Amino acid sequence: MKTLDQIAAELQGYDPQALSASDVNAFLSRLVEPVTQTETVHLFDALGRILAVDVVSPLSVPPHDNSAMDGYAFNGAMLTTANTPDAPLTLRVAGTALAGKAWTGTSGLSDCVKIMTGAIMPTGLDTVIPLEFVQHTDDTHISFPANLLRPGDNRRLKGEDLIQGQSALQKGEHLTPAALGLMASLGIASVTVFRQLKVAYFSTGDEVLSLGEPPREGAVYDSNRYTVYGLLTRLGCKVIDLGVVRDDPTLLEAAFQNAVAQGADAIISSGGVSVGEADHTKAMMKKLGDVAFWRIAMRPGRPMAVGRIAQKQPKNQGISTEHADDAISMGTSSYQKNSAVLFGLPGNPVAVMVTFLAFVRPALLQMMGSTAKPLPLLKARSTDALRKKAGRTEYQRGTVSTALDGSLTVKITGNQGSGVLSSMVQANGLIVLHHDQGNVNAGDTVDVMAFEGCI
Ligand code: AMP
Ligand code: MG
Repeated sequence: MKTLDQIAAELQGYDPQALSASDVNAFLSRLVEPVTQTETVHLFDALGRILAVDVVSPLSVPPHDNSAMDGYAFNGAMLTTANTPDAPLTLRVAGTALAGKAWTGTSGLSDCVKIMTGAIMPTGLDTVIPLEFVQHTDDTHISFPANLLRPGDNRRLKGEDLIQGQSALQKGEHLTPAALGLMASLGIASVTVFRQLKVAYFSTGDEVLSLGEPPREGAVYDSNRYTVYGLLTRLGCKVIDLGVVRDDPTLLEAAFQNAVAQGADAIISSGGVSVGEADHTKAMMKKLGDVAFWRIAMRPGRPMAVGRIAQKQPKNQGISTEHADDAISMGTSSYQKNSAVLFGLPGNPVAVMVTFLAFVRPALLQMMGSTAKPLPLLKARSTDALRKKAGRTEYQRGTVSTALDGSLTVKITGNQGSGVLSSMVQANGLIVLHHDQGNVNAGDTVDVMAFEGCI
């Protein structure tokens, strides 16, 4: 586990007062570490969890060559050995193969076997003519037109999905509905996944009201705890809600300590990190661990605190510094055991969501043990001209839709103020205007981070 100074030394040109969005991602990916603890859960409880082991196929799927259609199985050699190539092929029906059990009769070269979808292909038969092409010439014979089939058609091969011993799923993969089905097809009923990440969150600010409190002049209801709760829950984290905390160092310290004591892997706070905030708040955060205060070249967003909050040691225990009363042991052992990664987000409701999606989400995924690549950005034509300053990353709320010609267009959703949540609700993605990018003309193609799969 690296200290912030060690990480800073690894990153070229690190300047906490002027970080680009990609610097932030690079820093956080060095700061966080994946959980190591695992648990075994039933498939029905595994959706969205992250595999902690490779899954090797214990059997071949399908286990036998079988029919892909209801029809008649026959030897494909008949297609090429027929005397008159374009004449219909007539075959004798020697029996019926049902799904679930093998047909044990014998068949000659010009015989066929009526077969159901999924039934094992009888020995020597490799091709199936679907029922709808077949005519019954008499009680025991069928015929079908020439040139419909090639040998091997409408047969599923043993192991065409997975071969016994082959890697089916890899450690770090998210268990999607398809992955659950795949494991079930292998006869696997339970699976070893990483334990869920525990994330504590709270909102700060004297002006921030909890729901249920009467409105008061100059005060706003706390929305950040609800968006953060939603974002974390969608990501598959366990959440610890620590409420609204006043801008009071003692109460803030208690909230951080409470989070660590409850075993939080990460703490997300909102508010209290901007330039205008009381310095005692920042001094307190620094006292609690290894914390840096950043200014990020982005909009919305900008201020952010990151680091690690350690559990305060009981007085005089294991610490022999001159500040034994309030020092936090950041020495390797206690640092590793009882510390939580801090994401101190700005207070503005949209800035919270944007910094979460851009920075916190990828870092939490890494902590969860996920090896998923970032979701690909969509390319869409902007219907609006967008003003953009080069030298910072800007995120604008937009709605992507499909134009008549099938291409994607994106339109910004009105007021882009960093406190305006309604334009976030209307949006289905964030237009990402990259660090070096300048103004966008109407009709230019821009990158969009789609919310689907993110939030
Ligand atoms: P701060 O970063 O603490 O200076 O807050 C920036 C702005 O966001 C201020 O207008 C706050 O009132 C607002 N704000 C801070 N926290 C919240 C919250 N939890 N819910 C809604 N608005 C908030
Ligand atoms: Mg504040």
